[in-house]
Amino acid sequence: MASQATSSSPFVAPTEPITESDDEIRAALAEAELPPLLPALAYLTGDLSLLRDDLRPDPLLIGMPQGGLTETQQAEAKELALRALIAYRDNGCKPAPIPADAELLRIMEYAVGGAAMSDYLPLLEEELAYRGEDRRAPRWRAEEIAPGVDFSFVIVGAGMSGLLAAHRLKQAGIRFVIVEKNDDVGGTWYENSYPGCRVDNPNHNYSYSFAQRHDWPFHFSTQDVLLDYFRRCADAFDLRGDIRLRTEVLAAEWSDEDVRWNVRVRGADGREETLSANALISAVGQLNRPNFPDIEGTGTFAGPTFHSARWDHDVELRGKRVAVIGTGASAVQFIPEIATDAGELLVFQRTPAWFGPTPDYHDPVSPGQCWLYAHVPSYSEWNRFWIFWRMGDGVLDGVRVDESWDAGGGSVSAANEMVRLILSEYIRAEFADRPDLVDKVLPVYPPGAKRMLRDNGIWARTLKRDNVQLITEHIDAITPSGIRTADGVEHEVDVLIYGTGFQASKFLTPMKVTGRAGIDLHEQWNGDARAYLGITVPGFPNLFCLYGPNTNIVINGSIVYFSECEVRYLLGCVRMLLEGGYRALDVRKDVHDEFNEQVDAENKRMAWGWSDVNSWYKNAHGRVAQNWPFTLLEYWQRTREPNADDFEMLP
Ligand SMILES: Cc1cc2nc3c(=O)[nH]c(=O)nc-3n(C[C@H](O)[C@H](O)[C@H](O)COP(=O)(O)OP(=O)(O)OC[C@H]3O[C@@H](n4cnc5c(N)ncnc54)[C@H](O)[C@@H]3O)c2cc1C
Repeated sequence: MASQATSSSPFVAPTEPITESDDEIRAALAEAELPPLLPALAYLTGDLSLLRDDLRPDPLLIGMPQGGLTETQQAEAKELALRALIAYRDNGCKPAPIPADAELLRIMEYAVGGAAMSDYLPLLEEELAYRGEDRRAPRWRAEEIAPGVDFSFVIVGAGMSGLLAAHRLKQAGIRFVIVEKNDDVGGTWYENSYPGCRVDNPNHNYSYSFAQRHDWPFHFSTQDVLLDYFRRCADAFDLRGDIRLRTEVLAAEWSDEDVRWNVRVRGADGREETLSANALISAVGQLNRPNFPDIEGTGTFAGPTFHSARWDHDVELRGKRVAVIGTGASAVQFIPEIATDAGELLVFQRTPAWFGPTPDYHDPVSPGQCWLYAHVPSYSEWNRFWIFWRMGDGVLDGVRVDESWDAGGGSVSAANEMVRLILSEYIRAEFADRPDLVDKVLPVYPPGAKRMLRDNGIWARTLKRDNVQLITEHIDAITPSGIRTADGVEHEVDVLIYGTGFQASKFLTPMKVTGRAGIDLHEQWNGDARAYLGITVPGFPNLFCLYGPNTNIVINGSIVYFSECEVRYLLGCVRMLLEGGYRALDVRKDVHDEFNEQVDAENKRMAWGWSDVNSWYKNAHGRVAQNWPFTLLEYWQRTREPNADDFEMLP
């Protein structure tokens, strides 16, 4: 990166020249995330001797803080970095020329602890955006390839995916309107305002590749920060004028005759109208409709009650007896926050979660680290790459099933067993002074079979509080006064909070979507949603799903990455239509079916498909309809460009 001034991101300011003293640089380095720093400095200075073998992260330990580098290694890496930064400063802060691909590959392979990375090179060049380019932007304009052709979209949803699609369509000069039921953009990050809501995926990775920020206030930013980011994206990419807020899509119907979608919407005033467009994007998310458990008496509780995604900030919890049902991803974020206020907190748990120890989970990015991001060109991008790898493809083998491995259901392979041992040790240590809780909080299923959660010690501290009870008895019924468990105990409470997740497998509900020859999408799916690459569905021409079936991840990576791949693919489809003079494309059923067979077979070989533990990854048919089982690289490769042979093209 010659200069970050050329970045496509509206949030990245040019890096500042280093004018600080040696001691000030040393002080900043004391707080550095080291594994991406030496690669960043090698990239910046062209000095590949910085990539010392004895300071390279061990691939088996990359999930650990500082990539598992020992104290001695860390001290040496800091000393090396100090000398490199002093030389860079004394040389007038002039970056070396951008390395050739062979050198870049060497730097990347060093960064990941030695794995072969040549297949990843072009992907990572995009993800890093380190040459200041937005490499996923369409390099064509509709009016150039199909002059006079009017092609338009309706996009349903203005969350992360809908905004992204809109930005790309705008770049290609294609008309669209976004229809959003909420008062504002942001989707997940607008709706989930519960206390403690934050990302589980570090922000340097959970952000658009073309709109990176170097100045995230937290490693795992809070909901307000995320919402502000997506709002600013909507402004920066000039999308506001194309969004119809407080408008819900009720139904979408494909017209075989007109070769168009007719989209029925209802505005804030209750009035309905029909929008017509050539193509339809569903960007409604997987986690947008709250799920309430199928428990006798749900809805009968007489006191205040709400779901985590519809947090009622008017309900006073101070001093109250509060019940929370669920200990999933949202619940473990808000339970510690409300435990300090509630008079008594009853936590009803069905299945305990595995927790990845994350000491900096709640920490702001330290001043030293902020200084480094602001002064060391490309460091932030290399950190993004480091996260991409260590929370992505670099750890996928740890949850892949080894069929010859038999550990009685507790793990799926030797690598998975090692993870299980490390995480069990963590949980046992956290609850060492409360042996009565250990059996309740220690999972008996393999790590990766359910979503792995993060913890910095707050979960144990919370469950050990005098005013908190962890209840693992089966819930028999919800009653007007509280919850009755299978042991016959009536737990009377003042407030009942559902931390019970989302109707994730009910993709695109409650919209009615009708395709060719009047076929109903939900009848076709019959509760088992499938799509080709998670994007297109046979019989539904020019319908593109974002964050659709089998595009979720369990341990690895960020949904933003998937949406970026999907949006590039759909832009490729539009280009194919416009260039070929077609009006629509419909994915071939055999192509779709074969793809789904591959996905199903591979999901069964992953911890989440193999284990019979309950999880939101499986639909009512027991099929994993949420998750992508292959590498992130493979999704990128498969979606890089559409293949015309996969489709029936409609004139
Ligand atoms: C609490 C929480 C934490 C998460 N943390 C992470 C994380 O750390 N990392 C990660 O990668 N992912 C995380 N996710 C997943 C998250 O949903 C995605 O990362 C991302 O926000 C999905 O964006 P989206 O635009 O596809 O969907 P959403 O953000 O769900 O947006 C969908 C939008 O569509 C609108 N909509 C839906 N139906 C209609 C309709 N019929 N008419 C009009 N508008 C409609 C909704 O109002 C909403 O605005 C988290 C999810 C939750 C709930």
